[in-house]
Amino acid sequence: MNTLQVLEQVVKRCKKCPLGETRTHSVFGQGPSDPTILFVGEAPGEEEDARGIPFVGKSGALLSNILEAVDIPRESVYITNIVKCRPPGNRDPEPVEREACLPYLRSQFKELHPKIVVALGRIAATTLIHPDFKITRDHGKWIHKGDTLFMGTFHPAALLRNPSYKKEAWEDFKTLKKQLESYENKERNPG
Ligand code: SF4
Repeated sequence: MNTLQVLEQVVKRCKKCPLGETRTHSVFGQGPSDPTILFVGEAPGEEEDARGIPFVGKSGALLSNILEAVDIPRESVYITNIVKCRPPGNRDPEPVEREACLPYLRSQFKELHPKIVVALGRIAATTLIHPDFKITRDHGKWIHKGDTLFMGTFHPAALLRNPSYKKEAWEDFKTLKKQLESYENKERNPG
């Protein structure tokens, strides 16, 4: 077993925070072991909790559709969440729950070496990019952290609730595609 597989087994049994008592399945993440893009959402929802796979409900279907529209295969990206277990009633994960779970995301980051990280929604963006991040104000802005580019955008669930944000989200995903192409060009033509 590689490090990620070992970590996934640890997360399966984890009870480091109260969410471990109420979940059906923890949701570790899904994707290749060498992705260029890492998507990070907030927490598993009802369907993700039932199946143990991230972004498989209505939000997941919307994310898949957007990725297809910008010609980024979903199978090429890695998708996970800030917390790996579903908060009851889909409430926001509490700070203490996020703190308890973040070491798993840090380990995933270390193993996956993504070049681009996309934070989906407020909880992910305030945790990963800046505590004052406001999605409606700061979405689509690219920030370098070390060798990695970060961008925050709307969570697909927010787009389902407020379809008026879809146009802005679409622009964000178009810039994502451009960043991906730019990275791939540099890989092909180093120097
Ligand atoms: S949310 Fe994270 S820290 Fe809490 S029980 Fe689940 S895996 Fe463990």
